[in-house]
Order: sequence, then structure tokens, then C-alpha cells
Amino acid sequence: MSTAQTIVAAYPAVRLLIGGEWRAAGDTGTLDVLNPASGAVIGQVARATSSDIEDAAHAAAEGFRAWRLVPAVKRAAIMRGAANLLRERSTQIAQLMTLEQGKPLAESRGEILAAADIVDWFAEEGCRIYGRIVAPRSAKAQQLVMKEPVGPVAAFTPWNFPVNQVVRKLAAALAAGCSIVVKASEETPASPAALIEAFADAGVPAGAIGLLYGDPAQISRQLIAHPAIRKVTFTGSTAVGKQLAALAGSHMKRVTMELGGHAPVIVAEDADVECAVKASAVAKFLNAGQVCISPTRFLVHNSVRAQFVEGLVRYAGKLVVGEGLRDTTTLGPLANARRLDAMEALMQDAVTKGARVAAGGERLHDRGYFFAPTVLDQVPRHASIFNEEPFGPVAAVSGFDRLDDAIEEANRLPYGLAGYAFSRSFATIHRLMHQVEVGMLWINQPATPFPELPFGGVKDSGYGSEGGPEALDAYLVSKAVSITAY
Ligand code: NAD
Repeated sequence: MSTAQTIVAAYPAVRLLIGGEWRAAGDTGTLDVLNPASGAVIGQVARATSSDIEDAAHAAAEGFRAWRLVPAVKRAAIMRGAANLLRERSTQIAQLMTLEQGKPLAESRGEILAAADIVDWFAEEGCRIYGRIVAPRSAKAQQLVMKEPVGPVAAFTPWNFPVNQVVRKLAAALAAGCSIVVKASEETPASPAALIEAFADAGVPAGAIGLLYGDPAQISRQLIAHPAIRKVTFTGSTAVGKQLAALAGSHMKRVTMELGGHAPVIVAEDADVECAVKASAVAKFLNAGQVCISPTRFLVHNSVRAQFVEGLVRYAGKLVVGEGLRDTTTLGPLANARRLDAMEALMQDAVTKGARVAAGGERLHDRGYFFAPTVLDQVPRHASIFNEEPFGPVAAVSGFDRLDDAIEEANRLPYGLAGYAFSRSFATIHRLMHQVEVGMLWINQPATPFPELPFGGVKDSGYGSEGGPEALDAYLVSKAVSITAY
């Protein structure tokens, strides 16, 4: 039996976690989970019934009552225990992730180890939730501001980083003293379940964490409206984010929205072109481009464009496309058939409108959802790929002559998540850092979404942050207490 077959046999029947109990599928049955490297069914995930969802909300209310009373240092110790379990189990969880999501094994393992570090950071930060004492207006009075957990959270996460999209929400919520019900992606259910199992095994009380799968629209509708739920957090497309934000608004629920992007990469005429190629090519093809902060609109000064494109083509040519479980693979399949269809449509549109295919440009292999690492040059700005989030392994390059044009193009779209810039000139860097409308800007370096830094967007890319102290604020409410001594 090959390694891949051994792992297929070990893929679990993924269950729901409600009130500390792992619950198998009820009346509504299960959903199939596919391996994107083959399209074959590898397992099933339980599909929550309406009463499962109701039970999960009630359990979260009870879990909150218990967890908020656990002192912050003890919460931190439990969370660090979960982080250590994740590290111990990283090889096994990585196999599940690669099997269900497609990314190369090294990327899966890296994601789990990074998740453990994120948990440690939030565990520490949770011990530094301070209120403040405000100068009173009378000698007999005391005024203070307390920070309290907002309450049970409903979190909705996608399939591109099955563990890391959950962990930023889970760790921040738990560190703040909130309980949380996670609805992770039905397409990649086993690795988030393993993440949550690590927290349950580390001693998070029953109900403080729940896990649901099923019909996303039904679960979000029911949970967001539920009186027990006090906060909603979503990562996914802008279209779905707007629907959920509207729903949350109609129930007066606090919201964090981590939505799509279309990151500009401005390569100025004085850039170190090799550095720009290296930093942006690695980021471009990571997770087959299915990354919300992936560099996507390459705006390259025409004097260095040919050299830049050549560098990207060279990098793309060295990638080994294949099944993520193979050691040699550096670019796995797309995570689902929808992405493959989208890539083919975007390619056809770009070429029809005049883009030049410098590398790749087509589907690979006759099974699975593989797409060649692709570099497009001279892409017209009205091509769909320069307007819709591509979410695939395609680098689209367009030239510019004046920095003003590049800045205008960078800000043209409604998105504002990540941006990248390369220049040796302080004057250029200074202009870009003030004028590019994004939530995160990386200059002369690849993306480094460390937990201590804010992570989030502006404009249609959403609001709120999933990093830095701001991420904890999202799970806290302020209470002003004024006391007068008789
Ligand atoms: P989608 O927008 O339908 O789904 C995105 C995620 O949201 C999925 O996990 C899905 O289960 C969930 N979802 C969908 N409808 C929901 C609802 N009513 N309530 C709760 N959750 C819901 O589409 P998709 O095909 O999975 O992805 C399409 C695009 O979404 C991608 O091309 C990309 O632009 C964007 N996306 C962004 C991220 C990100 O990290 N920001 C992640 C995944 C997808």
C-alpha cells in the first residue's frame, strides 16, 4: 500500500463538537469530502441538523459562563497546552490537511506550526487585557473602565487555510474569555476538527468550543440570529461577507469581516528586481495562489518589466506540480473544481483581451484540479483577472511609466487588503506607504503576517483585525464603573 493510500484509510469520519461531546451525523446525514489531487471521495463530514445548531448555541452560552471565570493566566496555560499538542500532532494533522485541501505537505505542516505560535501569542496577550482608572470628579468617587469578554462567538471560516483561518479567531476569542462556535469549511473539515480536538484535550471546558458543519447558509442564519451569540466573525469572499454583515447588523451583533483582496505589487524603476522577484514569486505560488493576501496585480515599471517577468517565468519553471503528499511537490492542485473553472475562464478572457502568456496558462493532468503556474504579461487593466480576485496560481503583470499611474491603479478596485512595493528610494516608499489604500503593506520583503501585527483590510476587504492587540479588542466590551463612597 502506498503512503497516500495508508492516509486515505485513516481519514476520519468528521463529527460535530457540541457541549463537549463529539456528535455523529443525525437525520440530515453526511457530506462527502474530496481529495483535490484526484477528485475522489476520501471521507464524510457530519451535517448539522437544526437542533444540532440550537444545541451548539446553548452549549456556547453555558461554556461562556464557565470559561469567563477562568483566570487569564490559567486560560493562557490551557491554550499553551493546546499549542504544544498541535506541535506534537503536526505531522498527522498535516497529512489530513494535504489530503483534503491539496497543498504540499511542507506547507500544511508549516501552517500547523504557525498556528501553534499564534495560539501562544494570544495566550500571552490575553494576560495583558487591562482596563483603566479615570480621574474622578469628586474626592469621594472612583471611576474605572473594565474590559469584559463580549460573549459567545459564531465564527465562519473557509477552506484555503483550514487551520489558520480558524486559529486566529479561536485563539483571540478564548484569550479574551469568550466561548466560540466554529463553522469551518465542509470541503476541508478534518484538520480544523483536529485543531479543536487539541483545545478540548488541553482542558478547555465543555461548551467553550463548538464545531459545526452542514449547510453554511442555514448555520449562519440560525447562529447569527440566536440570542446566545453576541459576536460574528467571518473569513471568505466579499459577496458572502456582505450578506453575513447585513444579517449580523439586523440582529445588532458585533462583526469582524476578513474578506477578499486583489493585492497590488508595485515594482518601481529603482527596485532591486531580483529581490522583488524572489519575494513576490514565493508568495504568488504559495497554496497555489489561494491566499487572500496573495500578490495578484503586478504593476511593474516598464524599464524593468522584461527582467521581472523573466524572473517570474524562471521561478514558475522550477515548481514541481503534483500531489501534495509527494515530498518533491512544491505546487499542489487547486482546492476545488470551482477554482479550476475560474482559472480557465480568467485565462481565456485575458488572452482574448490581449495578454501574453509567458508561462503556463492551462490545466495540467487529466485528474485532479491542477493548474500550471502561470505568468501573464501585458495584461490589459480591463481584463477580468485585473478586476476579480483570481485566487489561483496566476501572476498578472502590467507595465507603468509614472508612479502616479501605479498608485491610481493600486487604489482603483474596491478591495484594500494587502499590498507590496519594491523600491530603493525613500521618497517613493514614503509616498506609497501614505497613498496605497490597504490594511497591510509589505515593502521590499515578502508578506510576514505575524500575530503581533494587525491583520485585516479596508474598503470591501472588510473591517476589524485578526492580529495584534486590535484582534483581542474585537472580543471585548468596555464597562464604565463609577463608585461613590458614602
Ligand atoms: P464562497 O464565497 O461561497 O465561500 C467562501 C467560504 O464561505 C466557504 O468556506 C463557504 O463555506 C462559506 N460560506 C458561503 N456562504 C456562506 C454563508 N451563507 N454563511 C456562512 N458561510 C458561508 O465561495 P468559494 O467558491 O468557496 O470561494 C470563492 C471566492 O471566495 C474565492 O475566489 C476567493 O475570492 C474568496 N475566498 C476568500 C478567502 C479569504 O481568505 N479571504 C477564502 C476563501 C475564499
